[in-house]
This record gives sequence, C-alpha cells and structure tokens, in this order.
Amino acid sequence: MTPEPDSLTRHGWKTPSADMASAVGGTPLIRLSRASDATGCDIFGKAEFMNPGGSVKDRAALAIIADAETRGELESGGTIVEGTAGNTGIGITLVANARGYKSVIVMPETQSQEKIDFLRMIGADLRLVPAKPYRDQGNYVHVSRRLSEENGWLWANQFDNIANREGHRLTTAPEIWQQMEGRIDAFTCACGTGGTLAGTGFGLADAAKAAGVTRPKIVLADPEGSGLYGWVKSNDLSISGSSVTEGIGQSRVTANLEGAIIDDAERIGDPEALEQIYSLLIHEGLSVGGSSGINVAAAIRLARTLGPGHRIATILCDGGTRYQSKLFNPEFLRAKNLPVPFWLDE
Ligand code: PMP
Repeated sequence: MTPEPDSLTRHGWKTPSADMASAVGGTPLIRLSRASDATGCDIFGKAEFMNPGGSVKDRAALAIIADAETRGELESGGTIVEGTAGNTGIGITLVANARGYKSVIVMPETQSQEKIDFLRMIGADLRLVPAKPYRDQGNYVHVSRRLSEENGWLWANQFDNIANREGHRLTTAPEIWQQMEGRIDAFTCACGTGGTLAGTGFGLADAAKAAGVTRPKIVLADPEGSGLYGWVKSNDLSISGSSVTEGIGQSRVTANLEGAIIDDAERIGDPEALEQIYSLLIHEGLSVGGSSGINVAAAIRLARTLGPGHRIATILCDGGTRYQSKLFNPEFLRAKNLPVPFWLDE
C-alpha cells in the first residue's frame, strides 16, 4: 500500500475540494532561526505568502465573500467592488473568478507596479486613483463605496466589515495555536484594516481560555506614518513620518480594530524593517515584502523585552517579488536613502 503523504494529513487535504478556497490558509509556521538565535527566544513566521493570491489578504477576501454569500447579498454573476492597496483586490479577484463573480478594484496609483500588473493579469477591472488621505472624498476607499452605491455592486468594505477579522479568528488563530501546540507567549503584527491583528488576537485569546491558560500578549507593529502606535500608547492618532512599506499603517480606528485586544505597540522604521527582509531572504531563503519586515522587527523587539525562552508568532504577509521594483531595486533604495543589500549593490 502507498503510504499516506504526511503533507496531506497535516493540512487536511486528503480529499478533493470544490474550488480554490481550500488552498487559502493552512500555511506553514516557520521558525525564524536568525531572529530566534539573536534573542534566545523562538520566533515563528506564518507563511501567508503561500496563499493562492500570494498574501494574508486571501483569507479576508474569502471570509468577506463567503459571508456575503451566506447573507444572500451576492447573486450569481454579481460584481464585488473594493478599495485596496492591492493584496485584498488580488484575493477578491481570484475568489470571484472561481465562483463566477466580477471584481472592480480601486487602488491608489502609488502602489507597486507588480501588484498593478498582477491585478490586470488576473482579470480585475482595475481603477487606479491618486493617493489621497481618508478624509478626502477622492480616497480609494470612498471611491469604491460610491461605485458600489451607484451601480448596486457588493462593497467588500474590508476596513469596516468585521467578516474580515472573523475569518482570522476562525482560521489564522487556531492554526497558529495548533502549530505552536498551545505554547505561545506573544503575537505581533502590523495593521492595514486591523483584521489580522484583531481577529488573530481574539482567536488566540479564545483558544487560551478554552485551554485554561494565560492568553498570549498581543502587540501592534506599526510603521512610521501611521497613527496607531500613538493610539495604543497614548490614545493619540496623530501621524508623523512615512514608510516605503505598503498595505499597512492606519489613521483611524476601523470597525475591525474596535474592541481589539492590543496590549502594547512597537513603532518600526524602514531601515530596521528592510534589514529583516534582506536577512530572511539571504540567510533563511524566505522572500517576503516590507510589512513582514515590520512584523519580524517587532517580534525581535518583543523578544528582547520578554527575555530569553519565550515563544512569539508573527505574520509573513506577502512575498518579495511583489516589491521587486522597489524594495529590491538599488536605484529606488538609494533615492530613498535606504541601505542596498550587498548582493544587489554592484
Ligand atoms: N501586509 C500587507 C502586505 C498587506 O497588503 C496588508 C493589508 N492591506 C497587511 C499587511 C495588513 O493586514 P490587515 O488588513 O489584516 O490589517
């Protein structure tokens, strides 16, 4: 008899599934050896870049679409519209393709060319808009809401639709809990919508309660130019600085962030985040984007605060190829006064 491959058993992929949705989630949790060795802790990264659309946002896209289907808000052949930094748009378009829906994606034109090209490649009706702050009605989120109102399309509304964080509560958190065998001292990640941080935080707290153990500490990792660090530390959402990272940072408390468990926050600058993505790539064979660098840098800071022997999880949100023309491009880095990794520095 042919032995059962361990990979199928581990991920519950023993039987065929109806569509690509079963390829979302169930990602590996990888021990990051350099970060762990440097701190005497065990730091783990959830490899969300392995999702079908290449990012953690596939989970939110699937959860939002599944919720709309359950509520009867999405008819066969219907259209879903969303404002996104790109990754949610990719997830929504792929799930829409698989289920016979259409997708209209509104995105600030400042996002990476790779995400723009990929969205076009997969058939999204892409509407690029100038980057504007949230208070401006030209902001991509408001444009997507208006398109929904004018055309009767379903608005995914990832920032304020809590189906987003519910998806993480029900999948990301139990996966991490199981993969860490219930031994987890802290979880840290950055926020765009807040769905990953809030949902995973709630789910880990649920799991700890069910197991009768202390819940892990939940820590926000925030880039420069975001208001959330100040919000957590001193209830002040004002903003300073900027970041080359994409998809993270927030100037308001979204519905997904309301009531979230957040014990503390770390603010991470671009040089510290980029150092981590280059180290993950060249020393650990992991190609990840800027927000993953923010997350790993925050996990390292947290490890130093907690002291040796602790177990910390974070998220590797998406892959490095999505930012090849920016974070792995010497000209871009030099123009931003950021360090160029040695193997790209000719
Ligand atoms: N990292 C990347 C690369 C993203 O695109 C996003 C979402 N825009 C996030 C992190 C943040 O995830 P969330 O929306 O769940 O807070």
